[in-house]
Amino acid sequence: MIQKVSVIGAGTMGNGIAHVFAQYGYSVHLIDINEAALQKGIATINKNLDRMVAKQKLTEAQKQETLNRITPSTDLQTGVANADLVVEAVLENYEVKANLFKQLDEYTSADTILASNTSSISITKIAANTKKPDKVIGMHFMNPVPVMKLVEVIRGYATSNATTQIVVEVSKKMEKVPVEVKDYPGFVSNRVLLPMINEAIYCVYEGIATPEAIDEVMKLGMGHPMGPLRLADFIGLDICLNIMDVLYEGFRDSKYRACPLLRNMVAAGHLGDKTGKGFYNYEK
Ligand code: NAD
Repeated sequence: MIQKVSVIGAGTMGNGIAHVFAQYGYSVHLIDINEAALQKGIATINKNLDRMVAKQKLTEAQKQETLNRITPSTDLQTGVANADLVVEAVLENYEVKANLFKQLDEYTSADTILASNTSSISITKIAANTKKPDKVIGMHFMNPVPVMKLVEVIRGYATSNATTQIVVEVSKKMEKVPVEVKDYPGFVSNRVLLPMINEAIYCVYEGIATPEAIDEVMKLGMGHPMGPLRLADFIGLDICLNIMDVLYEGFRDSKYRACPLLRNMVAAGHLGDKTGKGFYNYEK
């Protein structure tokens, strides 16, 4: 049974993942190599819990209990030593994740499940850095984690049924909806989403319509809450390009080629919300 969870990386995703586990009664170690990032992660959890109290989704006492269940730490070895489940949410870089999983293999017990929140790196490849690939799985949460219901549960080539079942049960306990998929490039979420975004970018590139017009078509015509180009800016155009390249290289299929306009915008440093410029202008 899962009781103790260690979350690695206290950034955008990691603090949300720690928040949700703690809210549902799990004892959580939140680990980051960077002390300032760790403090920022805890401050974000505090702020998001305050918002839930204001909306009467939690009581002040439940907020305190949630915070009390989270132990922040910069020490990986002690932070994962007693974990039943580790969820990795460090930056999207294969070398960094490969090194981390080698350490996790050494520092955790044979039974500990090792999950990755990666958006695009192969779970099978990450698992190959451990001696227990049957215990390695993808737990792909969506941003913002406390709000979004989906957990894409990704089975690597060697992930066991038992590991999958435990992760599915834990996700349900947190009132998330786990959806099982196999480990192929982009899984399902990004394999379907990114080619749509890329096609919307081709429509701008070919002068078929403005970004505003394309987003209106998808919002009003298809019921999407956010148009694909607004969403691309929100995700970050560098991340979008990276995922298109993962699909292109993973399948060796030209249907996944990134639009030249996307490549140009990334080269120019117009990455969307985070740089103030993308398909829309966010500069104050
Ligand atoms: P982020 O940059 O906000 O946070 C990453 C954190 O990891 C930083 O605080 C950094 O200090 C820490 N870190 C880096 N190396 C570390 C190490 N070796 N040990 C411990 N901590 C380390 O990144 P993020 O947006 O939260 O993304 C994390 C993961 O989640 C990535 O794999 C990403 O692809 C995936 N993901 C992101 C989103 C999203 O919308 N941001 C959605 C789904 C999945």
